[in-house]
Amino acid sequence: MAEIVRGKGVISGIAVGKIMLAGQNLDGYLVNYKAEAVETEKKKAADALVAVAETLRESIERLKSQDMVEQAAIMEAHRMMVQDPMMAENITAKVDETKSAPHAVLQAAEDQAKMFEQMADEYFAARAVDLRDVGKRVAKFILGVKEPEIGDEKVILCGREIEPSVIAGMPSENIAGVILGSGSTTAHAVIIAKARAIPTVVGLNKEDRIDRISDGDHVILDGERGEILINPTPAECAQYDEKIKKQQELAKHYAELKDLPAVTTDGVKIELMANIGSHMDVDNALTYGAEGVGLFRSEFVFMGRQDIPNEEDQFKAYKEAVEKCGGNLCVIRTMDIGGDKPLPYLNIPPEENPFLGYRAVRISLERRDLFLPQLKAILRAGVYGKAAIMVPMIINVAEFKKVKEFIEEAKLELAHEGKTYADDVQVGIMVETPAAAIMTPILAKYVDFFSIGTNDLVQYTLACDRGNASISHLYNHFNPAVLRLIERTITSAKEAGIWAGMCGEMASDPLAAVLLLGMGISELSMSAPSIPRVKEKIRSVSSIRAKEILADVMKMEDADEIKTYLQKVLD
Ligand code: PEP
Ligand code: MG
Repeated sequence: MAEIVRGKGVISGIAVGKIMLAGQNLDGYLVNYKAEAVETEKKKAADALVAVAETLRESIERLKSQDMVEQAAIMEAHRMMVQDPMMAENITAKVDETKSAPHAVLQAAEDQAKMFEQMADEYFAARAVDLRDVGKRVAKFILGVKEPEIGDEKVILCGREIEPSVIAGMPSENIAGVILGSGSTTAHAVIIAKARAIPTVVGLNKEDRIDRISDGDHVILDGERGEILINPTPAECAQYDEKIKKQQELAKHYAELKDLPAVTTDGVKIELMANIGSHMDVDNALTYGAEGVGLFRSEFVFMGRQDIPNEEDQFKAYKEAVEKCGGNLCVIRTMDIGGDKPLPYLNIPPEENPFLGYRAVRISLERRDLFLPQLKAILRAGVYGKAAIMVPMIINVAEFKKVKEFIEEAKLELAHEGKTYADDVQVGIMVETPAAAIMTPILAKYVDFFSIGTNDLVQYTLACDRGNASISHLYNHFNPAVLRLIERTITSAKEAGIWAGMCGEMASDPLAAVLLLGMGISELSMSAPSIPRVKEKIRSVSSIRAKEILADVMKMEDADEIKTYLQKVLD
């Protein structure tokens, strides 16, 4: 019998494959690292430097043979850093201090990076990023965390923490499943996996269950039940083959809904759109029947790379997404950096409360060097279809007015440079803070649309960290306080004659969709694989019934009562 490890299933589906340990955020690994004698730690560090230099040499040769000269040069610079005798010396000294090889490597790299950062010469200052990267690479080697590499075989990525960019950076066809130690349904790594329908289980840091899974293990992952079978027997494999068959039949049923509209039995139509993290996700979204993109998380264009993408790089990505949407809307959210989406090369100092800190529009408004090129890229992409600009984390009217000034400035610059752009791009905001939701009657005078971001709105309204598994029972979009803010937002939009949609994960819950329908929402945007389920539910009710259900729900006092009631009347 296989050993079974249990977590929380967050994306259903069965995945079969080999485990690849992955993860860019090393905190969890460092906490659990068991150091040995100081001399052994020194040897581990020295051996890791040699081994990493060798893997870098192999990568350089491969890149050169593929004519990827620039990337090869970067790797060459990294190899020189790894082989620098000063680096080795600093690490040895740090092992004496920290008694731990990976900690020593990271600290030595950080010290050197800081020295570089202080240099006036821009070129040398920029090398700080490379040094940190190299330090991480060597530390990962010691900790046994592999860099995911694209091979022929499908893998199941497994890590205490996996940065969203790791999943975003790998083609979907290479990832069969994801196992995440931390996380919840709204962790960004999970959101990306969801957009790609990758079966996922989270929450295995609890009792260190994740340590029972080793690199190279053959596993069956059940994303529905949250179970991972390690090295299953042939009989167990056969049992799961049956489930895989059922999964394929359901997919076939959903495929039949693809071209049908999301319309209630009495003719009320809702737009069902897709949330994407890359222009490469659009094709996949369309196969699920998405009628455009309701949220393009543009920060992923900035992640998983060494430097800021310039206007041209961004333009190419946005243009492709807009074009692929045909005549349908493609809502591009301006970068939402911060929270659980750090951007190492911006060197933002660590914060005690990153979700309440320097993030999203707060960064954009201060960093015109980032914001203007992004706005220009979106405005230019608008020529190739129907683009919209959406601003995250708005808390007041003043921020939005400043954004509009930036947009005017971007247009002036484009006109001056003789570049064509779309003048009629809609500009809206995410309603994801209680402040914005409360102020929607006023904000509605300035914006073209609202899109409700429940992932953050729930966490800020309920003072409940969206990624903290130990309080996940409190994090609930059916909480009456949250429902009231949502209803207020939709009503404000209707009164002002603008549209309101939702792009938080709540939109992918078929039961919630009925309530939102009752409130008069006009668009729901979600990870594309969820579209058929939501569509099926909308097509099964009338708008009148949805309003009756909503009226009942708004009389109820708590989230569990509401959910139980909805299950009773709708499931
Ligand atoms: C949200 O907060 O609901 C949202 C859609 O944005 P993100 O999940 O990227 O924070
Ligand atoms: Mg958000």
